[in-house]
This record gives sequence, structure tokens and C-alpha cells, in this order.
Amino acid sequence: MNRRQFLAGLSGLTMTHCVFEGHAATQPYDVIVVGAGMAGLATAIALQSEGASVLIVEARERCGGRVWTDQALGFPCDLGASWIHGSRNNPITALAGDFGVKTLKTDYENASVHDRGKRISDQQLVRWYRDYEGLLADAAEIAEDSDQDISVGAALQRALKGERLSKDEARALNYFLSGIVTTAGADLSELSAWYLDSDQAFAGADRLFPDGYGQLVARLSAGLAILTETEVRKIANDGKHLRLETTRQTLRAEQVVVTVPLGVLKANRIDFSQLLSPAKQQAIGDLGFGLLNKVVLKFPEVVWDQRIEFIDRFSDQVSQWSTFMNLVPVAQQPALMAFCGGTFARQMESRSDGQLRDEAVSALREIYPGIPDPTAMLVSRWASDPYAGGSYSHLPPGQDGSAYDVMAQAEAGGRLRFAGEATIRDYPATVHGAWLSGQREAEQMLG
Ligand SMILES: Cc1cc2nc3c(=O)[nH]c(=O)nc-3n(C[C@H](O)[C@H](O)[C@H](O)COP(=O)(O)OP(=O)(O)OC[C@H]3O[C@@H](n4cnc5c(N)ncnc54)[C@H](O)[C@@H]3O)c2cc1C
Repeated sequence: MNRRQFLAGLSGLTMTHCVFEGHAATQPYDVIVVGAGMAGLATAIALQSEGASVLIVEARERCGGRVWTDQALGFPCDLGASWIHGSRNNPITALAGDFGVKTLKTDYENASVHDRGKRISDQQLVRWYRDYEGLLADAAEIAEDSDQDISVGAALQRALKGERLSKDEARALNYFLSGIVTTAGADLSELSAWYLDSDQAFAGADRLFPDGYGQLVARLSAGLAILTETEVRKIANDGKHLRLETTRQTLRAEQVVVTVPLGVLKANRIDFSQLLSPAKQQAIGDLGFGLLNKVVLKFPEVVWDQRIEFIDRFSDQVSQWSTFMNLVPVAQQPALMAFCGGTFARQMESRSDGQLRDEAVSALREIYPGIPDPTAMLVSRWASDPYAGGSYSHLPPGQDGSAYDVMAQAEAGGRLRFAGEATIRDYPATVHGAWLSGQREAEQMLG
């Protein structure tokens, strides 16, 4: 069967809605994978290589999900994932190597840190950092002594009780805490103090993709049957098969692997026709799904130190324009990328691009009064995105990580399976976690 015949087999579809370069497949499929992010791609590749007929159904017009390289500014901007976190033995490093895709090491310490326009000396920063480490150790002890899990925010508040911080110390503390909020994509009050660092990490430096993470997606999706612009609305048991009702047509498969983001599951955007166990429903509710947003600003010229990797600043609100990545060393462009997490990231989503540009520029003008107006910008709004509903998962107070294991459990007698970053306890919230979870499901099905 050639590409055109395959398309004809998918009644009601036009070519633009389907990318198909793989081998022939007709209904019912052995497996339908819902979502063409890294988890979905990993599942489909592993199953197809063993001869299974696999169709990926993807709601967007593109693959990659939360790996998204936007080219609208004329150069690659990763508005979703940027880094291979921990590049040693990381499966994503291996993929980049296999495809000959260039990566670049990030040195987070190659940063200049500023408060109200003044650059903070390294010595001062180290002093404040030591205080911060002491505070974290106290907070960890308080959490440890507590009868039940509390939030990181509550533990810090108790550790700080009675202490009078100067304005400068308070702003410095805000800055260091911004690191947690930006990384977790969640407020301190939303994060478990007991299990904040309970996941596993690969060793080695973080590396990013100067030409975009999307290169991996393009390579991985080639050769797979992927039905794009098709949202799955309902999954039901049809006796012998599982039936998927989509915005285009009804599909059938022996088995289904759902890889949609936790935010989509939380919003009940897919009707599972009571196929989900109470434990699964509980886990969907129990895990946290946070928010990290990015803003890319392109300037007519570079007025900052071209060699530094990050321009950081103290701010009144945690994770509010507190860190800008310099895109000169990454993309050779006069551009900066801001990272904002938690409550501030949520507030950003109701503001216009113009408002966000003005806010970001006024924050930067504290440091570089002569910085010109940007000529172009890009903004992510992951929470408002119906196919994401946020950025990635985290453990709220009271959650020890076992909900991730429940997320990974199959339903409907093993025919309805789950993969994705929120299904892998050891590596949640990462690209490699999503990838490994997809491979896990394929291995279990093949096994
Ligand atoms: C701003 C940001 C920065 C990040 N930075 C990093 C980083 O630097 N390093 C890192 O390792 N990780 C990072 N992450 C996390 C990483 O991007 C994710 O963990 C990973 O990409 C998730 O892959 P996934 O396959 O589980 O889900 P997704 O990539 O979200 O894929 C799920 C797919 O399902 C589709 N879908 C949704 N609903 C439906 C439906 N009803 N029917 C059909 N299809 C549907 C979606 O469109 C999507 O394509 C970041 C994430 C964000 C948002």
C-alpha cells in the first residue's frame, strides 16, 4: 500500500492532515498512540520496529508537544524544553549523537547578577548564597521533624521565623528562591518539602540545542504514521477493540497508549467512558501540574556582555523577570530569553504581548539603561494551551511520588496504557523521562 492508498483508507481525511512515511497499516490497528510528543514517538518507534501496525493521533498540526522549536523570529527558539538535563548516559544525548545533532554545554554560573541596576559582586553573592544554603538546611530539618509533609514555602517560613532580613537580604533570598520556582514551574507553597528532590538525575552538564530541540522531533517522526490535527475526545471499550472518537473519525485498535499531558487529563478533555480505575483518577488529581513560560526578545543590537550566558536580577515577586538567557552564544542573535514560573507565569498569560514586552524591557533597562526597544518577540502560554494545560508535573505536599507509579499502570485489562513525563517516578518533568516512559510501555507490550 502506498502513501495515497493509506490516506484513502483513513476515510474523510485529506493529505494535509496526515504525515505518513511508514509501512502500511489499516484499521483496526495493533496500537494507537495518543499524542506525538517524545513519549508517543518513543512508543511508536519501538513498536513499529517490531512489526506492529501503529498509528499516532496528534491534536496539533505539528509533532513534539512540549518540545517546540519556533522559527518565527528567523532563528530557532525553543519555547518548550531547551536542555538535556544531565547529559551523561542520558538517552537524549544518545539520540542527538545518532542523528549528528549539535549540542552546546550550559554553564549556569556564567551569569551576571544585578539588583536595581547594580551588579552584585561575586563575593557578596557567595555570602548571600551561604546564608541561603543555611536557611534551606534549617527548613529541611523542620520539614523532617514535622509529623506530616509540609510545603517548601511553609518550611522556609518556619525556618525564617523571628529573623529580620534587611531589604537587600530579602531580595537576595527572593532571587535564590526564584531558582526553585522557575525550575519546578510551581510556587513554593505547591511543592512537597519531603519529596522535592526525590527524582533521579543523570550526571554531566546540561546541554542545549543551538539549532533547536525540534531537530530530534523531525528525525524521530520520519517514518511513522501520524495523524495530525486530530483530537481524541473519547476512548471506549468496543468489546474486542478500543474505540477512539476523534474530531475527524472513529478509530479502532487492539491497544491504546495515552501520552497526553497531565494538564489535559486533569481538564477531562478526553472521556474515558469509565475505563479509568479510581486509583488512576485519584493520581491524576493528586499530582501537581505547574507552569513555566518563556519570552524571547529580539533587539536591533547587543548592548550586554556577549560572553555571559545568563543575565539575572533580583525582583519583588519570585520568578518575575529574574533570569534572561543570552542567545548570542546559542543562536548568534541579539536576543534574550526570559524564564518565569509559578504564579507570575500564570499572571503573564492574561497579559498582552505588548504589556509583557514593556515589563521585560523596563526590568532590563534597570541594568542596561540604553537597551533599545525589541524589534520582535515570542511568548509561550502553556497553561492556556488546550493540548498542554501547563508545563510539567511536580509533587505537592503529601505526595511521595507513588502517584507517578499509578499513572504508569495500565487500565482496561492492560489494553489502555499510559506514558509521558507524568508517568515516570524517577525522571518526571523531563524530555528523557517522557522518552523512557514511551520505551517502557512498548517493552511491556512487546514482552
Ligand atoms: C517551558 C518548558 C520548558 C521545559 N524545559 C525542559 C528542559 O529544558 N529539559 C527537559 O528535559 N524538559 C523540559 N521540559 C519538559 C519536557 O518538555 C516534557 O517533560 C516533555 O516534552 C513531555 O513529553 P510528553 O511526550 O510526555 O508530552 P507532550 O510533549 O506534551 O506530548 C503530548 C502530546 O499529546 C498531544 N495531545 C494532547 N491532547 C490530545 C488529544 N486529546 N488528542 C490527541 N493528542 C493530544 C499534544 O499536542 C502533545 O503533542 C519543559 C517543558 C516546558 C513546557
